[in-house]
Amino acid sequence: MSETKQIVVVGGGITGLAAAYYLQKEIKHQQLPYEVKLLEASDKLGGKIKTEQRDGFTIERGPDSFLARKKSASELASEVGLGDKLVPNGTGQSYILVKNKLHKMPSGSFMGIPTKVRPFLFSGLFSPVGKVKASKDFVKSKGAQQDDQSLGHFFRNRLGDEVVENLIEPLLSGIYAGDIDNLSLMSTFPNFYHLEQEYGSLIKGLNKTMPARKPVKKGKKPSMFLTLKDGLESLVEAVTDHLDEGTVHTNKAVDHIEKKASHYNLLLNDGTVMEAASVILATPHFAAERMLSKHDFMKPFQGMPATSVANVALAFDASAVKKDIDGTGFVVSRNSDFRITACTWTHKKWPHSTPEGKVLLRCYVGKPDDQEVVDLSDGEIVDIVLKDLNKTMNITADPEFSVITRWKNAMPQYTVGHKQRMNEIQQAMEQELPGVYLAGGSYHGVGVPDCIDQGKEAVEKVLKYLK
Ligand code: FAD
Repeated sequence: MSETKQIVVVGGGITGLAAAYYLQKEIKHQQLPYEVKLLEASDKLGGKIKTEQRDGFTIERGPDSFLARKKSASELASEVGLGDKLVPNGTGQSYILVKNKLHKMPSGSFMGIPTKVRPFLFSGLFSPVGKVKASKDFVKSKGAQQDDQSLGHFFRNRLGDEVVENLIEPLLSGIYAGDIDNLSLMSTFPNFYHLEQEYGSLIKGLNKTMPARKPVKKGKKPSMFLTLKDGLESLVEAVTDHLDEGTVHTNKAVDHIEKKASHYNLLLNDGTVMEAASVILATPHFAAERMLSKHDFMKPFQGMPATSVANVALAFDASAVKKDIDGTGFVVSRNSDFRITACTWTHKKWPHSTPEGKVLLRCYVGKPDDQEVVDLSDGEIVDIVLKDLNKTMNITADPEFSVITRWKNAMPQYTVGHKQRMNEIQQAMEQELPGVYLAGGSYHGVGVPDCIDQGKEAVEKVLKYLK
């Protein structure tokens, strides 16, 4: 009988957890002679997924939900016994704050791109000149073919600066916490480029290809997101519970990885060495780069930025909010005199998260050109957020409590050329370090389902390599 081969997953965020889970599932199913170890540097699994339960509130300190149409997250949740805990978001009007005024998000816009003419024409978000410029998308010839370009450049060219600044930028930078004039089109929304190339117009392309919406009751929008009733950390816990005993090792950071003749040596922070036949590197890019710093092909990761944000959850008694706006929240355009970038009325978007009679607001600070706000004290950050909130909702009392989470250098930026750089790194890795695979939010998609998908893909590659 062949000796048991060890597969090591480095990083216990959702990517590493999903990889370890699906590896063990396949090992059992195919009765393979492999064992899995999961090494996590901190004392806790979950990485960016962190939920705090406090006074009956469920507070997400990191991601609060995932896109329902990307199935891998709900599938994983169902596999580990949480299928009946999946909750769709409460729907309602969302808003956009432009030049300090709240506007309704025009209906029929997809990621800020208008797909219906009427709501767009009647929206107070754009000047008549801005509307004319955006409508040029119908007649303007398609852009020259190119390998990549910034999101900002692409959208400005098709729809004009105003639509970008008042609608698209606040929405997209909310997802990537970055500057859309630096972010890569091909690593974020390549489908928009393909639509432009195929249909000559982004709006026409979207109209032709968007699945017909199921008829919905008037005023009732379909839900796009899912979360878990007890918080996303319950997914981390349930996946962990499904791992074999002895799989998980917390407080074990990998400092370096060395290639040996027939295996890899992982040098750990406690001075010990662990052997692996194959490795899944499910850490942020800067950690992966440090572990493989002897390899020049990893150098591009040194120049890959990651921005910082702080997430600020504020709990109030409902009576404290004098101007209660009907809806689920708002994003803020850069031309507004605000430091918050977004605010979710969490008690309305996720009613299960908040006790009756209470209000839970979740705001972000940390624009690309306002990174220093993340380093302010808790009190200073709360004051900034409250000052901004009071410009839109009249709040007359202090919060019952606040939960502030700083995410320093935690939002990886897929800048122009990211896809090409990833291809080059992965090709070199296959040559120089066969059996070592990268997966996670720094590489091919930041969303929780994207991370789970990458964990699954890495599992397939490991199994193919070891066979
Ligand atoms: P991580 O969660 O970063 O996990 C990596 C792990 O590797 C960490 O636990 C770390 O300690 C460990 N590690 C690092 N170095 C080493 C080492 N040397 N040795 C061993 N272990 C190491 N996505 C959504 O889909 N929906 C959202 O609503 C959403 N909101 C977000 C809000 C915030 C504030 C943030 C920060 C992210 C959000 N995201 C959201 C993105 C999503 O949460 C992340 O992309 C995803 O959780 C990343 O998972 P990961 O496992 O790849 O990385």
